Amino acid sequence: MSVISPVQIQPRVSDFISRPRKMMINGQWVDSISGKTFPTYDPSNGKVLAQVAEGAAEDINLAVNAARKAFEQGKWRRMTASERGRLIWKLADLLEQNLEEFAQLESLDNGKPLTVARVADVPLAVDLFRYMAGWTTKIEGNTIPISPKGGQYFAYTLREPVGVVGQIIPWNFPLLMAAWKLGPALAAGCTVVLKPAEQTPLTALRLGELIQEAGFPEGVVNIVPGYGETAGAALAANPDVDKIAFTGSTEVGKLIVKAATGNLKKVSLELGGKSPNVVFKDADLKTAIPGAASAIFFNHGQCCCAGSRLYVEKDIYDEVVAGVSEQASKIKLGPGLDPETQMGPLVSDEQLNRVCSYLESGAQEGAQAKVGGKRHGSEGYFVEPTVLVNTNEKMKVVSEEIFGPVVAAIPFEKTDDLVRRANDNIYGLAAAVWTRDIGKAHTTAAQLRAGTVWINCYNVFDAALPFGGYKQSGWGREMGHDVLEMYTETKAVCARIA
Ligand code: ADP
Repeated sequence: MSVISPVQIQPRVSDFISRPRKMMINGQWVDSISGKTFPTYDPSNGKVLAQVAEGAAEDINLAVNAARKAFEQGKWRRMTASERGRLIWKLADLLEQNLEEFAQLESLDNGKPLTVARVADVPLAVDLFRYMAGWTTKIEGNTIPISPKGGQYFAYTLREPVGVVGQIIPWNFPLLMAAWKLGPALAAGCTVVLKPAEQTPLTALRLGELIQEAGFPEGVVNIVPGYGETAGAALAANPDVDKIAFTGSTEVGKLIVKAATGNLKKVSLELGGKSPNVVFKDADLKTAIPGAASAIFFNHGQCCCAGSRLYVEKDIYDEVVAGVSEQASKIKLGPGLDPETQMGPLVSDEQLNRVCSYLESGAQEGAQAKVGGKRHGSEGYFVEPTVLVNTNEKMKVVSEEIFGPVVAAIPFEKTDDLVRRANDNIYGLAAAVWTRDIGKAHTTAAQLRAGTVWINCYNVFDAALPFGGYKQSGWGREMGHDVLEMYTETKAVCARIA
């Protein structure tokens, strides 16, 4: 495995990581009150990449106060909608102009291939901001005919920003998750305290610099890096936060809900998944096989919607398993910055151990790895792309979210039985169906209890398409116009006119 990357790291990237990064509160870059910093690591070799100010409860309080002041003063929410849209659009332009820098930072901090960050993470974040910039001028209420006895009334609704929003994001798509969260909150006129994941804070902090450069008023966006149990928990519990938006594990999602009860702040959650990916025997296997491989191996399986339960109709089971295994065996693992890398390391030591312990548990329960099944190499947090067979729904590797490049292939015979088994899971984030039969495709899509169903494709995302979960995969939707519901309150105004 090459350690020295052939990609030329931009001087701006080297400079950015060479100095301890501060947090952004009220338009200023400041150290943490405690003066503490924490390290972020290069997951391809486990070495420290950069030091970052370690936010804790007292820093979160300062940031929330700044966001509250900015909200109450109204510089943002009372700014004309078109001016708000112009600033969000400007942020998208700045991000696009700095695409390579962001892609490199993301690849270094998260481990994902630079080639992927260039074509997916950064451009999707740019698109998201542009899409949300367009919404600022289209958030509108209704006029509502009402008919109480004994008077005439004129009634209408207003959509108002929910207020100060706390946003806690994960490490799998660090910049993109920041965009998914900030875009709609800003479009709605909210002010924000954003806490990036401790494993990957760098692109969010660099985005903070662009937010300043774009000219957002101070205090509208505050960015406080830190650990979940300290900074994250303090943000979720803060009584001056009107709404908390969280993306991460279902386990932490439940803690967020508990922490939010103090002031009954609004909560939206985008959580885990164990998505069924269904291949019927009439599918076009030339697309279904690579599609099933990419459904699980994209982003090293570190996607909440990863197609981790591969249900294959019995007649074609062996062929599909062989095909997906062949694809898996060809994936080139390496550091994200190596242009030949197709799959990088997992994000952290903790994640490596978690995925390996699932692989051990699968082996103990009788699952067999057709390909992969263990750690790759001894340096960095690499895991072999793995296809498990001889599995059943009682095994942990089939019922629980692994969040790594591990797929369980399971045969099925009858569609009714398939639907029951696919739905028999605590999660309901995504699903997919591969078939040439258009009727079967849509009836199965309707029967699957998931927030997204892909037909003859997987992992297709667009800023206009709502994304979120049924069951324990979450509350609410990200993106599309649905997300604006999460950041606005509806006010009914009723006037007696006669
Ligand atoms: P993972 O287990 O995949 O790392 P988490 O759900 O733990 O995912 O992390 C997602 C985000 O939630 C991160 O920003 C993390 O710091 C934050 N977080 C973790 N624990 C808590 C907590 N108790 N309260 C609030 N935020 C938390």
